[in-house]
Amino acid sequence: EAQKRLADAADLTLATEAIPLSGALDRILAASISAPTDMPPFPASAMDGYALRRADLKPNMSFKVIGTSKAGHPYDGDIESGEAVRIFTGAVVPASADQVVLQEEVQSSDEHSVTFMDHLPTESYVRPVAHDVSKGTQIASAGDRITPFLLGALTSYGIAQVEVYEALKIGVFSTGDELVDAGVELKAGQIYDSNRATVLALLKDPSLAVTDLGRLPDQKEVTEQMLAEASQSFQVLITSGGVSVGDADFVTGTIAELGQLEFWRLNLKPGKPMAVGRIGDCTIFGLPGNPVSTVITLLMVAKPTLFAMLGARQNKPLKLTAKLLDGLAHSPGRMEYQRGWLVDQDNELVVKSTGDQSSNRLSGLAQANCLIEVPKESGDLTSGDFVAVIPFRGLLA
Ligand code: AMP
Ligand code: MG
Repeated sequence: EAQKRLADAADLTLATEAIPLSGALDRILAASISAPTDMPPFPASAMDGYALRRADLKPNMSFKVIGTSKAGHPYDGDIESGEAVRIFTGAVVPASADQVVLQEEVQSSDEHSVTFMDHLPTESYVRPVAHDVSKGTQIASAGDRITPFLLGALTSYGIAQVEVYEALKIGVFSTGDELVDAGVELKAGQIYDSNRATVLALLKDPSLAVTDLGRLPDQKEVTEQMLAEASQSFQVLITSGGVSVGDADFVTGTIAELGQLEFWRLNLKPGKPMAVGRIGDCTIFGLPGNPVSTVITLLMVAKPTLFAMLGARQNKPLKLTAKLLDGLAHSPGRMEYQRGWLVDQDNELVVKSTGDQSSNRLSGLAQANCLIEVPKESGDLTSGDFVAVIPFRGLLA
């Protein structure tokens, strides 16, 4: 519901830019594209052999070989009845030839003639003009991600430049007086700031222009000042921590005070304290501070919303069904994403949880390759039950 509500509210008017297709992998197309030519653009041979007229194929017929058509070097002329052109895969089939006879069917040949074994080919081995796509057909839509395949397909039409949405400008903060950067020695009560590193790594994407904005201290005025300032320069801010109900939690209150909260708290485990709202035109995702909660809310709520904002047509993670190898504890109430290990066992997808599911255990995430989705009404699950799983591979892509 949160995903849907945020996606529906994501009505940014995004700037677009024309960039070279060769550098456009993973960008989002801003306009649909129609085939500028037929594909293939000429009748092409699918095999090595001889191009001729099918009606001429009779037992012991000898064909006069009048020339050669190689890929990139067409035979410049037409063929008459009783004539053949030596031809290779990808070469232009001369006009009025409607058949390629495979070179494996040659009975005898010399420089000027060829005869074939008695047979009638089951197919023409000619790829007709537009047999893949005809000119004017829509080959890509606005909102399509440029995959390696789409990049290749567009290149096959000679397209060298595409119109894409400008990358979303995102600023990332962590919050908390207990945090220090790796490389510094810890004083009493301090921990290393891992969330900002994880969030920045999870946002690595050519469609996202991410800036590391450092850390906010647990101080109301500073939090207000820095979020107000950053909301002027970024389309999206992502923070972690400071969204619970503690005395040092200032993110939720700041959003409510300077802008408006879209929602605060999700019926989700882990990730309950998540706060989302706006200051001016800037959308703010206040992710919870516990490292696993940060990751789950980023992957399941914030990231799909970012791609909805970018106009991407596909922004939902891939979901599969797998069989539980072990039991799994869950009390009804909140939907839960447990961290799991998914494998193919004798052609069956099986999954098991990575153990203790406390939301501070970053190690359980590092050992996982998927999330196990446990519905909110579910009780304990037992080995052999089927569950929905979200592979990180599909989620991170
Ligand atoms: P908070 O919501 O700010 O109270 O944070 C909840 C828990 O997550 C606390 O134990 C914090 O120390 C921890 N935490 C918050 N931010 C980070 C961070 N950037 N890196 C690692 N742990 C964090
Ligand atoms: Mg904190």
